[in-house]
Amino acid sequence: MKIVVIGGGFAGLQLVQRLANKSNVEVWLLDKHNYHQFQPLFYQVATAGLDASNISFPFRKALQSHNNVFFRVALVKKIEVATRQVITDNGTYNYDMLVIATGADTNFFGNEQLQAAALPMKSTNEALQLRHKLIAHWEAALTVKENAAALAPYLNIVVVGGGPTGVELSGTLAEQRLGALAKDYPELPLHQMKIYLLEGSNRLLGGMSEVSSNRAKRYLEKLGVTVLNNTLVTDFDGTTVRLQNGNAIESKLVIWAAGIKGNIPAGIHRDVVARGNRIKVDRQHKVLGTENIYALGDVAYMETPLYPNGHPQVANVAISQAKNLANNIEYLIASKNDKIIDFEYEDKGSMATVGRHLAVVDVPKPKLHIGGWLAWFIWMGLHLVLILGVKNRIQVFINWVYKYFTYDQSLRLWFKDYNAKSTA
Ligand SMILES: Cc1cc2nc3c(=O)[nH]c(=O)nc-3n(C[C@H](O)[C@H](O)[C@H](O)COP(=O)(O)OP(=O)(O)OC[C@H]3O[C@@H](n4cnc5c(N)ncnc54)[C@H](O)[C@@H]3O)c2cc1C
Repeated sequence: MKIVVIGGGFAGLQLVQRLANKSNVEVWLLDKHNYHQFQPLFYQVATAGLDASNISFPFRKALQSHNNVFFRVALVKKIEVATRQVITDNGTYNYDMLVIATGADTNFFGNEQLQAAALPMKSTNEALQLRHKLIAHWEAALTVKENAAALAPYLNIVVVGGGPTGVELSGTLAEQRLGALAKDYPELPLHQMKIYLLEGSNRLLGGMSEVSSNRAKRYLEKLGVTVLNNTLVTDFDGTTVRLQNGNAIESKLVIWAAGIKGNIPAGIHRDVVARGNRIKVDRQHKVLGTENIYALGDVAYMETPLYPNGHPQVANVAISQAKNLANNIEYLIASKNDKIIDFEYEDKGSMATVGRHLAVVDVPKPKLHIGGWLAWFIWMGLHLVLILGVKNRIQVFINWVYKYFTYDQSLRLWFKDYNAKSTA
């Protein structure tokens, strides 16, 4: 059986690795990048705490010892369901079984002005661009430092979206203001700098318990972040953030972490597209109305008794789904159809970090809400274990230890390309 997997994120890579060296199956992994991205640490790349290579892992290295797995760097353009083909910018691939694991992208909810002016962080490249923008921002602020009115919008940074990404970013920026930034830019009045975290619902970390939401808010406020719940952004033109309640915030830098939408390749019927641009699948990950097309991870929408509105779009769900599908494929190939089992997600807990010694962890069984330094160490330990590659783990660990003792992020580099159309 020839299986084509589109996307080597948490779901796709897990599936491919589980099918590696199995008999009677040939696996083709297609990804638009040649590396796997560890998204949970994007915010540390953006805030100069980690190098992009520390959280990226080349697919070819990950797949070296798998003799039935083939990889191509290919941007998938379209799926031809009738002829069982995947059309890419790097050729056409036939399949017997297709697995779509293309993840999700930033959702600006159709607001083009917002999309043009606000900064997303949904890929390694975007995290690096954000780092460049942050450095460019402070360098530009220096040019207007004598003019209080012109400087004011530079001193406000707005993070939109109070999920883990927004919480982690605003916490780190607040710590930088008191540490590395103050040392790098002594000419700027950084004591006047304000970091806003805007959340549309009535609490931060909507996927976690109320105890953890409240703790995270308290931690952020302790670091000096202005947290505004029930606050919806309607527009941003590069200088002014407009809010639905009629208020406005003058700011030159807005980071958008307020929504995602599934990356569905062309060729998938609109009838099977659910809320959030996710593909509706049955309990065995099969796209509704198809015979041999499956979807996993952020792009998939599955209703189960425990999750009637679909699963949370997190790494653990993607990995668990891939494990389940890999087992089912093995049973299918071995004609042991009676062993194929429906998927159900067992929540092992969730966590978010805010800053030094400040994190929140929810454990469902036994029901625990952990905060403070213990949660922070748990968060660090788990993320270290999950990063792909021993070298990456060591480098991340060294970076964290260095930052812990020096209060410094060492990677404040702005790679300017003077030949490119846009340099910042
Ligand atoms: C900033 C950030 C922080 C996060 N923090 C956490 C966290 O702390 N804990 C947690 O559990 N989850 C976290 N998540 C969510 C988690 O990363 C996702 O749930 C997870 O990555 C989903 O896995 P996936 O395999 O479905 O998709 P992804 O991991 O997004 O992988 C999708 C892959 O598909 C490829 N692809 C996409 N379109 C195409 C195409 N047309 N052609 C070819 N290839 C394509 C991409 O290059 C990518 O490699 C975070 C996400 C972000 C963005």
